Amino acid sequence: MKYDIAIIGGGPVGNYLATLLARHYRVAVIESKSSFGEKACTGIIGAESYNGLNLPREAIINRLRGAVFYSKTQRFEIKRKEPQAYMVDRKILERRLAEKAVRRGAEYYLNTRFLGFRNGKAILQRFNERFEVNADFYVGADGVNSKVAQEIGAKTNAEFLSGYEVEIVGEFERLDFVELWINKELNDEFFFWIAPMNESLARVGTFGRFDALFRFIKARMLKETNVVEFKAGSVALGIRKPWIKGNVALVGDAALQIKPLTAGGIAYGMHCAYALACSLINGRPWEYEKLCKDIKREISFGLKARKLFKNLNQEQIEKLFEILSSKDAIEVIEDTAEFDKHAKTIKALIKHPKLLAKILKVTPMIIRYLL
Ligand SMILES: Cc1cc2nc3c(=O)[nH]c(=O)nc-3n(C[C@H](O)[C@H](O)[C@H](O)COP(=O)(O)OP(=O)(O)OC[C@H]3O[C@@H](n4cnc5c(N)ncnc54)[C@H](O)[C@@H]3O)c2cc1C
Repeated sequence: MKYDIAIIGGGPVGNYLATLLARHYRVAVIESKSSFGEKACTGIIGAESYNGLNLPREAIINRLRGAVFYSKTQRFEIKRKEPQAYMVDRKILERRLAEKAVRRGAEYYLNTRFLGFRNGKAILQRFNERFEVNADFYVGADGVNSKVAQEIGAKTNAEFLSGYEVEIVGEFERLDFVELWINKELNDEFFFWIAPMNESLARVGTFGRFDALFRFIKARMLKETNVVEFKAGSVALGIRKPWIKGNVALVGDAALQIKPLTAGGIAYGMHCAYALACSLINGRPWEYEKLCKDIKREISFGLKARKLFKNLNQEQIEKLFEILSSKDAIEVIEDTAEFDKHAKTIKALIKHPKLLAKILKVTPMIIRYLL
């Protein structure tokens, strides 16, 4: 079988890329699973990205216009008039994108695992059958433990984290707000989130240790026995290099195009997929990484901010909450916050002379990491 482009991995990013390329090229998508959207994922995507990328409206299950931040003893909230993020059903999102790609001519191989390259061809396995696909260009969109990345010798020193998420029955009155809890005594690796799907159902999750999630569920007065779905997955926060080598490129989680502060990867992966599609269509694939420079910058900044977060103790977090819940800070955050761009808001906070003076008293390390 001969294709112009073979995409390994039919997750959200691979399928989105297939919709962009299938109009121009003969495209194959190789996916090891037999259906879409089984992955652990809260499915929160910035509204600006979602609209800009023209993603399917029918996948949206909730619209979020604010966040309530909790520490062990304090809380503050950030809100906007319009929705800032959407919560999506991953199965519908991935499936609609795959359907669109197929209508545009892409050919899908489900239940088919990529095993490696041999003589420029992709070796695939479907049940007991092994076969080859030959393409002029290959894309690894095969997730965080990418086999394609391994095959091209891409290197990383990323921090790999396990993520745990439940859907739980409870009472969630503020449907358009997500709750973010930072309590290092319960989990020193990451925050906890509660994202409501409707008044009586929410997705609750964290990264780090599995038992931390259940300790949080108890502390938040939710009932462990009200869990109706449990999923686990992994992310990796860091840099994987290179994103392109010869006629093979990596995109999405395979390239670790993941926001280091929230571990969200769908929007960055799709923005980079768009950049990759443009560079291929223009016949200049080597420009792919350059076209992603804004996202690369966000990731590098986010990694530094994550280092700072990991070095803070709960006492420092409580002091930072006092600063962040002040009128000055809320104003800065509400003026600058963009769901998929964290650097802008953090930089605005530390450029505010009054706030910077206070933050420096809590953590002088901010100079080393962020200034
Ligand atoms: C608990 C949790 C919550 C999350 N919440 C969010 C969130 O709210 N918002 C957000 O943006 N991100 C979130 N993420 C991250 C998000 O899930 C990923 O960033 C996103 O799935 C990346 O999409 P992708 O298409 O690059 O990779 P994947 O979704 O991993 O898709 C890769 C595909 O490749 C296939 N594959 C793998 N290996 C092979 C092979 N050898 N051969 C063939 N096929 C193969 C897999 O079956 C899979 O379908 C969360 C992650 C976790 C773990």
